[in-house]
Formats: sequence, structure tokens, C-alpha cells
Amino acid sequence: MNKHISFEFFPAKTEQGTANLITTSQTLAELNPEFFSVTFGAGGSDQERTLNTVLSIQQESGIPTASHLTCVGSSRKRMSDILDTYKANNINRIVALRGDLPMGMDDPGEFQFADELVSFIREHSGDFFHIEVAAYPEKHPQSIDHKTDLNNFVKKVNAGANSAITQYFYNTDAYSYFVDECAAAGSNIPIIPGIMPIGNFENLSRFSDGCGAEIPRWLRIRLETYEDDPKSLRAFADDYITEMCMTLIKRGAPGLHFYSMNQVEPNRKICNEVLKSLN
Ligand code: FAD
Repeated sequence: MNKHISFEFFPAKTEQGTANLITTSQTLAELNPEFFSVTFGAGGSDQERTLNTVLSIQQESGIPTASHLTCVGSSRKRMSDILDTYKANNINRIVALRGDLPMGMDDPGEFQFADELVSFIREHSGDFFHIEVAAYPEKHPQSIDHKTDLNNFVKKVNAGANSAITQYFYNTDAYSYFVDECAAAGSNIPIIPGIMPIGNFENLSRFSDGCGAEIPRWLRIRLETYEDDPKSLRAFADDYITEMCMTLIKRGAPGLHFYSMNQVEPNRKICNEVLKSLN
């Protein structure tokens, strides 16, 4: 299939964790993804680990690997050094983000918003990097309203983003309306839906409240029913996410980006089912 498939990882904290992650990336590489990506801790934490993880995964899996890059609390000099390091190591894909200042850090640094980072990358490196940006079909939680958020997304496209990955969502209409609105605003870059498989309802619920992703009421009620039965929860959730992915593809989504949580399953299973349905 000619659809973009990608998987996102976070850097592991231990040597064993990194070794496991490389094995995971090698297994997921069998699905022939367009790229892997590795998150970057806003405000300083784990940033070196991101670079090392990106390099190891690209080398060991043979799949192009993107680095996420957050600019909040940082400087032009620091961003420039990081970009130079990536360029020297043949990493040519960046997921450019503002990030959120960690608790206790007050200095926003030299960049206010992600569109400034996109402009900076273009000024610094021309077209060397393929730049992805974040998109929020259900609105970024700090934005005052949907229209303002959409306009701010368009600024990132105008600054030079090549494509976008969305925050995860469980409501396909939110994605479809968002894509149509972006097109109406003249932004026609590919917008890849971010897919978050469901493993643990409590964790998902807490995380979703923080990042502004809605779990629809009916889905929440269903997931709560399986509180003491993780096997049934997994079976139900995998079916639901697979159906959701198929719906998105049928409606014209250019691909799928999996928030893998560093796990092979259920990402592989869902992805395989979706790919099978397209052949
Ligand atoms: P922006 O696009 O700058 O938007 C942030 C807020 O500011 C929005 O409310 C927007 O409407 C508003 N805004 C934007 N531009 C302007 C402007 N010019 N003027 C006024 N207001 C403006 N976080 C990490 O720490 N590390 C990661 O690796 C990471 N990866 C992510 C990957 C994806 C695909 C997604 C969707 C999110 C990721 N995040 C990551 C989380 C992200 O950093 C947060 O959601 C953060 O709050 C916003 O980052 P952004 O790049 O979307 O910011």
C-alpha cells in the first residue's frame, strides 16, 4: 500500500531498555514503515538520549529515523548545534515542536512557538530536513478556541512544514473536519492521524486529560467495564482501533502514525489488519 506508516518511540532510560527498543524497532521494521521517530524531552531532560537513540535505531533497523525537537526554554545556538549534529549523522527528518516548560522552569528561552522553530530550521538548513509539525483536531488545550488554533497551525505550514502528525483522538469526525478546514485555509500538507492503541484505561485517562484528547463517553464506559479484565479490554480496544484506522484510511487519511509506547504489540497486529484490508 502507498500509505505512510510510522511508529513513535521514547528514549529508554537504561541500557537494557535501549537494547529492547532496538529489537522492537527491528521487528516493526518488517512492516516497512516510512520512518520511526523518537521523542525529545522539552526543557532539557533526556535530550542526549534522544540523539543516541535516533542514531542507534536508524543504524540497527535500516529505517529512516526522525528526531523530535522541542524549542521551549532553549536558544538559537542550542538548536543550531543539534541540527548540525543531526545533519552530520545523516538524520534528515525532524518533528518540530514547541513543547511544554517542565514544572519549576520559568524561562521560555528564545522561541515562543513552534512556527518560529520551523522558520529557524529553514533559515539554518534550507531544505535539508523534512519537517513534521503537530496538529490538534480536538484543539490544543491551551488555545482559546478552535479557529485561533487552526490559524496557528497554518502559521507552521507557512513557515515551511512538509507534513503534520496529529495528537491522538478517538473521534474520526474531529480529524475529517480538521483536514477539511486546513484545506479551506489553503494548507494542503499531508496530515497523518496519530494513533494511540489502548492498553491501560487508567493511564490513558490521566494522560488524555493532560493533553486534551477526548475519550468519548460511550468508549470510556465500555473501557471501565473491563477494569478487572485486561485481556477483554485489549481485545475490544484492538478491534476498535483497527476499525478506526480503516475508517480514517477510507476517508482519505494519507497514512497512520502509531504512538507505539515502545511495544511491538498491539501496534503490529493493528497495522497488519489495516494493511490486509487494503489489499
Ligand atoms: P505550538 O504549535 O507552538 O502551539 C502551542 C500553543 O500555542 C497552541 O495553543 C497554539 O494555538 C498556540 N500558538 C502557536 N503559535 C502561535 C503564535 N504564533 N501566536 C500565538 N499563539 C500561538 N512534547 C515533548 O515534550 N516532546 C516530544 O517529543 C513531543 N512530541 C509530540 C509529537 C506530536 C505528534 C504531538 C501532537 C505532540 C508532541 N509533544 C511533544 C507535545 C507538544 O510539545 C505539546 O502539545 C505542546 O504543548 C505544544 O507543542 P506544539 O509544537 O504543538 O506548539
